[in-house]
Amino acid sequence: MLLIHPDSTCDVCLDPYSWATSDNTPHAISCGHVFCNTCLNHLRPPHCPLCRKAFTADRVKKLHVDRYDPSPTNDTENEARELMDRIALNSGENTARETVEEILNEAKRWLDRDGHSSTYPAVHAAFSVLVRYRSLLEVRSDHERELSELRARLHRRRAMEEEDQMNSTLIEQNLVREVRVTTVLCCHPVLIRSSVAYGA
Ligand SMILES: [Zn+2]
Ligand SMILES: [Zn+2]
Repeated sequence: MLLIHPDSTCDVCLDPYSWATSDNTPHAISCGHVFCNTCLNHLRPPHCPLCRKAFTADRVKKLHVDRYDPSPTNDTENEARELMDRIALNSGENTARETVEEILNEAKRWLDRDGHSSTYPAVHAAFSVLVRYRSLLEVRSDHERELSELRARLHRRRAMEEEDQMNSTLIEQNLVREVRVTTVLCCHPVLIRSSVAYGA
């Protein structure tokens, strides 16, 4: 496999080779020199601009070459892969909120750099999923807080009810005791007789 460095340019137009259209990829002529096809099509007479040998337009060969990936891109690829792994491994139930926050900040910084957000749509999508997961975590902790407040209120209410219950039992017992005392006072035979004797 022949690789073309991103800095390689056509010697006529001096533009870097591009794979956007097949006319801008490297093309060889019979002398062996290589140019972009757009330039070759415009050469009159058709002589090689470097060695002046004549060539025929129908013998121009499109070269099957690949673009050379310079190491910065490989580094970026590695960074993207690493980020994807971290996002995937830290979106589970047991991930601490701080860790989620840390990864989100890191991913955001990376996506904002050098247009990574558009060149790595998968990382961007994974980032969005983690953002959604964080908001679900927030909702859940709100619910948990609400639930524990409700539990505390229920607990207080039960305690109050128990206290009320105890008070009413006490009142009832006192009333019963009072009624007994009154009954004893009213109906005691000696007490009744003495009341009659004193004309009560
Ligand atoms: Zn050219
Ligand atoms: Zn030539």
